[in-house]
Amino acid sequence: MKADLHNHSYFSDGFLSPRDIVKLASDANCDLFALTDHDSTNGIVEAKSEADKLGTNLVNGVEISAFWRNSAIHIVGLGIDIDNDELQTGLEFNQTLRKERAKKIALGLWRSGIKDALEKAQMLSGGHMLTRTHFAQMLISEGYCKDMKSVFRRYLTGRKPGGVRVEWKDFKEVIKWVQSSGGKALIAHPFRYRMTHTKIKNMLIDFKEANGDGIEVINANSSDQEISLGNQWIEEYDLLASVGSDFHGWPNQRVQIGNLAELTNNSRAIWSYL
Ligand code: AMP
Ligand code: MN
Ligand code: MN
Ligand code: MN
Repeated sequence: MKADLHNHSYFSDGFLSPRDIVKLASDANCDLFALTDHDSTNGIVEAKSEADKLGTNLVNGVEISAFWRNSAIHIVGLGIDIDNDELQTGLEFNQTLRKERAKKIALGLWRSGIKDALEKAQMLSGGHMLTRTHFAQMLISEGYCKDMKSVFRRYLTGRKPGGVRVEWKDFKEVIKWVQSSGGKALIAHPFRYRMTHTKIKNMLIDFKEANGDGIEVINANSSDQEISLGNQWIEEYDLLASVGSDFHGWPNQRVQIGNLAELTNNSRAIWSYL
């Protein structure tokens, strides 16, 4: 089973159109593929029409920003009904938070001498949703930083000029948005948060208690140790497993669609439950 259930188009912070990324999934011979833009399902209709044309199995997806305790985390929703009101009301709430945050980021950057950040980031987003990735790419292309890692660290997090705290909803609520639309809710890339293993495990306990469905066990950058811990935790906390590259398609990124390690425990694979 070749699955890739975490990918972005330019409807959030990806570089390519939904049509182009479905083509890449088809070229990579993915048996199952999901478009999971940040806080938006606006690319799904286009992705679906291309998937039908190419005979690719598309799963409707989304990656929703949420809070667990005091940490911002990402919940991937898979197999969602994009016409569901509760889901779309939630996504609209997050889209509003994003617009407010973009203005605050631009103001913070302006205070540190970087002019017209909002307009320049908007140019890069092509008028679609604004994310921190657009500010990051803008700051790199203007020569303020050399790569994504340093630009997030120096400009877009914590108390840095463009660091803005967003009051996302608690993940319990986000799980409900996803599940009320018929989808499964999974914690995205559990190892990418700045958390100790103990803290991640506490998050998994709370997530299971809130009726969450699973976690992403495999990403494009997963180490063998992370994959084996993820496999251990899905057993320990009775969760399902998903796999996804988190492809964004920016020219300077090496991640490819459908190029992932295989899931070993197929009885807990999310695709048996979608
Ligand atoms: P946002 O959802 O607008 O807060 O933007 C978060 C996105 O920025 C993530 O989904 C990643 O694509 C990207 N991102 C966050 N931190 C980093 C980082 N340190 N290096 C590269 N990309 C990052
Ligand atoms: Mn992203
Ligand atoms: Mn994410
Ligand atoms: Mn993502």
